[in-house]
Amino acid sequence: MPDVTARKDVQTLPTVEGDLWAEFRQVERLTLSLTQTYTHTLGKYSRFFIELENRRFMATHCETCDQVYAPPRPLCPQCLKPTVWLELSGTGTLKTFSVLHFSPGSNADVRSLATPYIFAYVLLDGASTLFPHLLRAPLEQVKSGMRVQVAYGDSPVEHPIHLMYFVPAE
Ligand SMILES: [Zn+2]
Repeated sequence: MPDVTARKDVQTLPTVEGDLWAEFRQVERLTLSLTQTYTHTLGKYSRFFIELENRRFMATHCETCDQVYAPPRPLCPQCLKPTVWLELSGTGTLKTFSVLHFSPGSNADVRSLATPYIFAYVLLDGASTLFPHLLRAPLEQVKSGMRVQVAYGDSPVEHPIHLMYFVPAE
């Protein structure tokens, strides 16, 4: 059930001689604030997020096409067969990146990031696809081709994808 709070003010708009709507120039304005709580399932992707809490990085493997999907895909997009879970080491190579000077602030995890921050596309060792996510590294050290690894956070997060991020490889 949404929690709604309202603020209202009443004002009378100016009228002129012969105004047919003079009786209706008093208007009430409402400012509404809406907070809604809902339950969302991560569905077939759930194991990926559950294992992040265990500090394990999971991908999926199509045994027919020998493609490894990170982020995981429950179905292979090439042959449409169900995939199987496969653990990766979490090391990889930075393929490309963007430096974000403006944050979309889409949730509390993103709002807490200081700008500029780095949005990276990483080819994890053993994967066939690029994994897009946050790279925490000094800007002057970031170069395409650098080695990176998955790091796991300890602080509470709003969305479980923020249990992990990339850092330069040790
Ligand atoms: Zn396949």
